[in-house]
Amino acid sequence: MLVQLPNGLLDGSDLFNYVEIDELRGKQQNYLADRELVVGNVGHIPKILTDLTLALQTKEGLKWGGNMEDAIQKLPSGDLETILLKIREKTYGDRFYFEAVCPHCEHKNKDLRINLNELELDVMSLEKMLDKSERVFKLPSGIECEIKPIFLRDIFEVIKITKNKQNELITSVLALSLKRLGDITKVTTDDVAKLSMKDIMGLKEKLEKVKLEGSIDTEIETSCTSCGKDFSTKLDVFDPGFFDPSKGSMSTPT
Ligand SMILES: [Zn+2]
Repeated sequence: MLVQLPNGLLDGSDLFNYVEIDELRGKQQNYLADRELVVGNVGHIPKILTDLTLALQTKEGLKWGGNMEDAIQKLPSGDLETILLKIREKTYGDRFYFEAVCPHCEHKNKDLRINLNELELDVMSLEKMLDKSERVFKLPSGIECEIKPIFLRDIFEVIKITKNKQNELITSVLALSLKRLGDITKVTTDDVAKLSMKDIMGLKEKLEKVKLEGSIDTEIETSCTSCGKDFSTKLDVFDPGFFDPSKGSMSTPT
């Protein structure tokens, strides 16, 4: 199955933004059953991505010659989400059922259905990828910084932080979004901790406004079956439960 990515890997002048993917097999089922790998973690993700991304290629079909494990590390989170969604689709089909709790009345809405092949791709153009003008800016104090998308290793960092260092969550997530802060090119939590609140607010505002990467739309709009109000849910494709085969059918057949 050939899949278009919302971003892709830019290597020299070539943009490798298509992937050939395989379906889940017994080997990957073992990863998903490995509690140590998946519980409170995303250890299954790099393994599944490396095993099942068979080739990375340009639109014209030129294949990337490098190591797939390295490529996976260089793809922004929108690409990783797209590959995982398509692996699920290829393995179990495009129907996906899920549950969501209504934020208005707390009713658990069951058997909500989406078609994985209908999720919209918001592609980042090559021009926009190369254009740094929006990503480089000055904080209120005058420090110049550059922001970047989230990559696979960042996702692991965020999970580690949410587990162990809850008190450093805000500064850590901001540090992961910074490619450069003044002259610092390896921005740490401590560097962000020293920033003034004005700078932190300015940085957060920019992170919300500036488009850093293309994505696949995993925000699902639903109406609550109990109170009738609309709400949206985000599919969590990094959760091991996303690959549960039973999600391809309704829990209570009618
Ligand atoms: Zn409701």
